Amino acid sequence: MTKKRQEILEPLTRELLGRVDNIIGKRKPSAEPAPYKSPKTKHLIKSQIIPCKSCHKPAAMLIFAPDATTAAELEDYARLMYDPMQKTKVPTWILGDEYDVNINGQQDIKIFLMKTYPNREEAQHVLASIFDRSLDFLIDNHCRSKRKRPY
Ligand SMILES: [Zn+2]
Repeated sequence: MTKKRQEILEPLTRELLGRVDNIIGKRKPSAEPAPYKSPKTKHLIKSQIIPCKSCHKPAAMLIFAPDATTAAELEDYARLMYDPMQKTKVPTWILGDEYDVNINGQQDIKIFLMKTYPNREEAQHVLASIFDRSLDFLIDNHCRSKRKRPY
């Protein structure tokens, strides 16, 4: 949280200091405050929470690790994302490297992935179309056990 707060406050502080400087004349009035550049974070990890279409609660989480080509690299991402996974408490996959495959003349994509929540599973290469279907199934069935279908 402290880091998030810093990310928000730092540009504001800089802007404010820039204005103060302008007013008290440390800078030329025409000088633009230096544009704020966020520090490059080595582990800027993209993730996506997929909500249930019925109750809008999180139904699944995807963590994107496009540079992960080995199980150990997927594990690294799992370690870094441990806290968000424990908080979100939904089925979570780390999606690593994606590559094109040709199966019986059909173009498809394979994803090197690892399921990490609720149970850690072996890293595996899965067809994107199959993964998408099982993800859809999971999301579609999020509420199905609790609610009666309206039709
Ligand atoms: Zn739901």
